[in-house]
Amino acid sequence: MMPFDPISIRQQFPILAQQAHDYPLVYLDNAATTQKPDSVLNAIINYYQTSNANVHRGSHFLSDKATNLFEQARQTLAEFIQAPDNSHIIWCKGATEAINQVAYGLESSLKPDDEILISSLEHHANLVPWQQLAKRTGAKLRSIPFTSDAKWEAEYASYFNEKTKILACTQISNAIGVHLPLDTLIQEAKAVGALTLIDGAQAVAHYPVNMAQLDCDFYVFSGHKMYGPTGIGVLYGKTAALEQLTPLQTGGEMVLKVSLLETEFNQLPYRLEAGTPHIEGVIGLASACEFLMQQDRQAMLDWEISLANRVRRILMNEADIKVYSPANTTLVSFSVNNINLTDLNAFLDSKGIGIRSGSHCAHPLMAQLGVSGTLRASFACYNNERDADHFVATLLDAIDLLAD
Ligand code: PLP
Repeated sequence: MMPFDPISIRQQFPILAQQAHDYPLVYLDNAATTQKPDSVLNAIINYYQTSNANVHRGSHFLSDKATNLFEQARQTLAEFIQAPDNSHIIWCKGATEAINQVAYGLESSLKPDDEILISSLEHHANLVPWQQLAKRTGAKLRSIPFTSDAKWEAEYASYFNEKTKILACTQISNAIGVHLPLDTLIQEAKAVGALTLIDGAQAVAHYPVNMAQLDCDFYVFSGHKMYGPTGIGVLYGKTAALEQLTPLQTGGEMVLKVSLLETEFNQLPYRLEAGTPHIEGVIGLASACEFLMQQDRQAMLDWEISLANRVRRILMNEADIKVYSPANTTLVSFSVNNINLTDLNAFLDSKGIGIRSGSHCAHPLMAQLGVSGTLRASFACYNNERDADHFVATLLDAIDLLAD
């Protein structure tokens, strides 16, 4: 393991060295997507320069090379999330597709009176597929109304009952950085025999995850939020849970035998991977896992949290700013009285600072908070104190200017 060094880490991300609108680029939109280190970019280039072919199809030199790299990548992902073996790793486009696969895949096992439980902190990706599933099946979608400290309240236990068939909730809120009490939620779900899906999209870049410890049925995440490429992500599942799923897509690769009227599906994990996969994405994602696994993850997380706390401490003392995210998380989410967030965002952008303003694909949460949106500065391992300080100073200048 390498000792964590923010200076040498940053040098591995050449995109950050550029100017934006004639100012040094400050990238604080990492909860939306992260930048990619040289090692990930090189792994993708190297794949195309040395090993490109379709996988699992031909029996020739390049096809074997590509297939080996592709399946080694599955092994790396299994290690990254401490899954028992490769058969639990299903490649998909990202967290959204993975959740859609599970929601669609369970449709035939739901009855009109059944209940699907989510939390009020969900990204639309972990809401709309369940809402649509509920509409199609007549099942009822319910939401546990977590507040912005996400403390487990005794009354929440009543949301779980013998009708609850699925609990689907996020590990960390993308909009306000709150962590859900997963151990309690998973335990409550198991006690009523419900399946559990955890959306790890905001967790995997920051926290080591361990499937054996978490003990959920499904876990989903996207590569692009953890220093990997876009268009690739993972659906992890326990064998029995994955076997219950009807494939969302059918076609080549996921079959053993096909006649005109019948198809015998392949075994896991291939049964849920129709068509030519995103091979370069898989290889890039495995490289991103290696990048993370080589780091001192605790030191990296401490660094990211220290930057967010540094910003948060100052914003908390500003009379016109309301902060929604708790301390000791990797993002700061806030609103500013009487100033349009889009104007503030545009001002920050004009000074080279990229953050996110808006509802963060979490309309129900924004309604619960009573705001139309927030500004969100989210940190990654390559950010530094200069980024944090420049952001805060520019924000305070903007507030002075725009308030006049
Ligand atoms: N879940 C959470 C918590 C997210 O933050 C996001 C993206 O912001 C998603 C799901 C959807 O991820 P993707 O668009 O990569 O599928």
